[in-house]
Amino acid sequence: MFCTQCGAALRENDVYCSKCGKAVDALPQLGVVPGPPRKLRRIMSMKKIAGVCAGFAEYFEMDLTLMRIIWLALLILPPSIGGIGYFVAWIAMPKDYTAYPVDPVRDKSSRM
Ligand SMILES: [Zn+2]
Repeated sequence: MFCTQCGAALRENDVYCSKCGKAVDALPQLGVVPGPPRKLRRIMSMKKIAGVCAGFAEYFEMDLTLMRIIWLALLILPPSIGGIGYFVAWIAMPKDYTAYPVDPVRDKSSRM
């Protein structure tokens, strides 16, 4: 294995290049998840109705607004499964009351 930046030879277990300090591109390892495991839950601090959209947005790492638009589309467009889906998610998903620093707009306005 060689450093992708400077070409120095690396030992097998090296995490950083000993010559230039570049992080070695580790092979993707199955089962290694950075950070805490994600859970589908209703995020109370970001909720409009029940926090379902916020929970889904977080879970799929999507924009909250986009997720709301998708839910709205599912609700309006036939076969209109959004209403049932939202209701099911509302009941099934656990509540999460942790404050989320995800919304920078709200964060900024609360500081002013
Ligand atoms: Zn290097």
